[in-house]
Amino acid sequence: MESDPSQQRTKHAPAIAPRAAALAIARLLSQKGHVAYLAGGCVRDELLGLEPTDYDLATDARPEQIQEVFPKARGVGESFGVMLVRFQGRTVEVATFRSDGPYHDGRRPSEVHYATAQEDAQRRDFTINGLFRDPESGDVVDFVGGQRDIATKTLRAIGDPQDRIREDRLRSLRAARFAARFSLQVDARTQAAIEATAAELKGVSRERVGGELRRMLAHPSRLRAVTLLEQWGLDASALGEAHSAGELPRVAALSPRASFATALAAWSLDRAARGVLVGVGHWSEAVNLSLRERADLMETRRIVGVIAAEWRGCPKSARKRLASVPCFIGALDVLLGSDADHAHTVRREVEALAREEGGLAPTPFVRGDDLVQLGFAPGPAFKRVLDSVYDLQLEGKVNDPAAALAEARTMLKGLDGL
Ligand code: ATP
Ligand code: MG
Repeated sequence: MESDPSQQRTKHAPAIAPRAAALAIARLLSQKGHVAYLAGGCVRDELLGLEPTDYDLATDARPEQIQEVFPKARGVGESFGVMLVRFQGRTVEVATFRSDGPYHDGRRPSEVHYATAQEDAQRRDFTINGLFRDPESGDVVDFVGGQRDIATKTLRAIGDPQDRIREDRLRSLRAARFAARFSLQVDARTQAAIEATAAELKGVSRERVGGELRRMLAHPSRLRAVTLLEQWGLDASALGEAHSAGELPRVAALSPRASFATALAAWSLDRAARGVLVGVGHWSEAVNLSLRERADLMETRRIVGVIAAEWRGCPKSARKRLASVPCFIGALDVLLGSDADHAHTVRREVEALAREEGGLAPTPFVRGDDLVQLGFAPGPAFKRVLDSVYDLQLEGKVNDPAAALAEARTMLKGLDGL
């Protein structure tokens, strides 16, 4: 049996750099007479001067030939013709050049055919995503005019835009994502094809819709992405509600690092402010939110409302409690877009509260165990007393454990006497 070059790493050596792993794998394939190129997103990113997140390879070697060179390579789930090759601590996707089989009803192709590099480029969605690069020489292999479109910052479908968008409507969402992320102008025919089919994301699963929206909204370029979705009329089909395009002040105000849930809260409130009937339950189904994301979306919207309506009348203890909730920072970000003055005031007040002894959420002076030791049995009053004593601590009205315990004892005795 042939030795497996991917096993040359000693046990505790650090993993090799991702590009170096792809280069080494390509080299080993080419030593066996195969062609192996960097493909898709990583070539685009490098030509744009960005660091790719992962490096995919495309090759004329069939999966069984890849396995001859890398005996431990494994096929990836359902995607026929894609092998995972591990090399010195890195895993690289190595896909055999292929053309897609027929698309049915906008769904992903049912079969794949091995093909030439040129056909593999032509099955890809946009010209900027259809490039190959020899990792050794750096030469770019361009069958689709992708280099020119990268130079002019243009997003253009490969082939006939109408056909390509109809084949897979997810490409419309991907178009908004790439145009936003890389600040691209969208080719007029590509845009027309997207707009013509925008009313329906026929055949695209909610998982795929959610995946694209997640990547768009979690990225600093989210304002342009959401603007394009609304301008092209994709909002209605993606969110399952009425179409509405307009101002997005809350989305615009978000910090670049805002989470997906925070961004969804901002977008939903921007739409609600325009009179769109936004149902969070509806969104969470349409966009396939996890339970966590759904809870965060609802909580962020709730806290935005509380800060807007109740903050001014809140005692210090309630402010500290509210400001230490995980969604608070995101909620304040959202509020910046609708009432910047109030949001700035609240931020300054929270900063001042955080500088107080113990910060926003100091360790409680008194806990349940302390009350049990005093001989009180846990019950409904018990939690109320603990909360009240903690409020006194947050207010700065008790300043040490002994004083807090004395307060608790008095409160519990008072209750006993009832
Ligand atoms: P990212 O950096 O966001 O991952 P990417 O270009 O790598 O961008 P992927 O979704 O990882 O995007 O897909 C890898 C490549 O596969 C793309 O560059 C493109 O060539 C091709 N591709 C992905 N999805 C589609 C699609 N729906 N239709 C046609 N080609 C696609
Ligand atoms: Mg990718």
